[in-house]
Amino acid sequence: MYSDPMSSQQQELRVRTVVKCTRCDYTNTRDFKDGDYVLKTEEGQCPKDGGELYIAGIYAEEVKREQQRK
Ligand SMILES: [Zn+2]
Repeated sequence: MYSDPMSSQQQELRVRTVVKCTRCDYTNTRDFKDGDYVLKTEEGQCPKDGGELYIAGIYAEEVKREQQRK
């Protein structure tokens, strides 16, 4: 019986969106949503000071399906 190395080491990529406030140091990271893009400013208001939120960055992180080794 063959074990396929491609499927046993499969990695998922999860896309994350970093949201920041234009007025303070508030930062929040959430899952990427359709229509997100860097510097988009329709993210609502900062929970700390009511400032405008914008998307500071979008990145992908690996989601390892096997147990983590450190
Ligand atoms: Zn703020």
